Amino acid sequence: MRDSYGREIHYLRVSLTDRCNFRCVYCMPETGVIFHPYAHHLTDQELVRVIGVMATLGFDRVRLTGGEPTVRPNLVEIVQAISAVPGIQEIAMTTNALRLEKIAEPLARAGMKRVNISIDTLDAERFTKITRVGKLEAVWRGILAAERAGLTPLKLNAVIVRGFNEGDIEDLARLTLDHAWDMRFIEMMPLGSIADFQIDSIVTAEEMKARVAAAFGELIPLQWNGHDPARPYRLPGGQGTLGFISSVSAPFCEGCDRVRLTSDGRLRLCLLRDDEVELLAPIRSGASDPELRELIAHGVHHKPWGHGLAENVIAETRIMSQIGG
Ligand code: SAM
Ligand code: SF4
Repeated sequence: MRDSYGREIHYLRVSLTDRCNFRCVYCMPETGVIFHPYAHHLTDQELVRVIGVMATLGFDRVRLTGGEPTVRPNLVEIVQAISAVPGIQEIAMTTNALRLEKIAEPLARAGMKRVNISIDTLDAERFTKITRVGKLEAVWRGILAAERAGLTPLKLNAVIVRGFNEGDIEDLARLTLDHAWDMRFIEMMPLGSIADFQIDSIVTAEEMKARVAAAFGELIPLQWNGHDPARPYRLPGGQGTLGFISSVSAPFCEGCDRVRLTSDGRLRLCLLRDDEVELLAPIRSGASDPELRELIAHGVHHKPWGHGLAENVIAETRIMSQIGG
């Protein structure tokens, strides 16, 4: 369906949980996160029902995210159920890959097509510093398992944080010389209670690109599909691609085609704005499918344009782990 700005909105990102087995510095505070009680999470059936209703509005792509989506119980069954929803053409997932070694195969069999994996450095010590608890080796095994299971083309995401991993950009970019992977560098976005730390540590996409060009020579621009937040490039002689996501310094609202469903049952209309449509309460008080459809269609129609970061307007109600990126 189209929103009031004429944008075709057909891509749904679903946060399956606000829990995570990592505590990345750019995403969650070290302590003090208040999690939504499980009773306030959409159940598997409620979740699949909302996706079914959204499919009748033209939504055809679903991406599972979190928190960490692989800590949600029954993930494989959820993927199976979403695959059976008429109209859903593609199910993908964004994950930290810690559990992928075990579940990549079953997920692929259940109908998952692709995964995006977050990896911010190839240095084991720095990896643990950024994720606060993660072990690089296990994540690397997860990446290889995803590739073996055919969850490809693999996309790797790195959020670049000044003082943590801006010196790792070149090593991460080098991965695309030998692997047909899409390596994407993401500007950190300030959200919620950790916005102060985030604002002080942003590295712009231009700076990231300049570092890569200084190390490898001029990047070769590739054809862009108009919707991916990253414009693609290739290193001379590279097998994979590179992308730079400039959500803060150069937002791409005109190409935005998505809304987000949070694990506590709200439709979030823009990542960086607090406008949300409450769905959990209507669902639990007996709303019919046409009533839900009407609520969702009204929300999507009023999807906002543009975030207010340049005017110091920070979305306050959620941190990234409660939205899913
Ligand atoms: N746990 C999964 C993962 O890390 O891939 C999925 C959820 S995570 C919130 C989704 C994406 O958001 C990841 O690629 C992560 O690096 C990114 N992210 C988290 N906090 C961010 C921030 N403040 N700014 C930009 N991207 C962020
Ligand atoms: Fe967890 Fe992903 Fe956030 Fe890291 S980025 S804390 S892995 S939700």
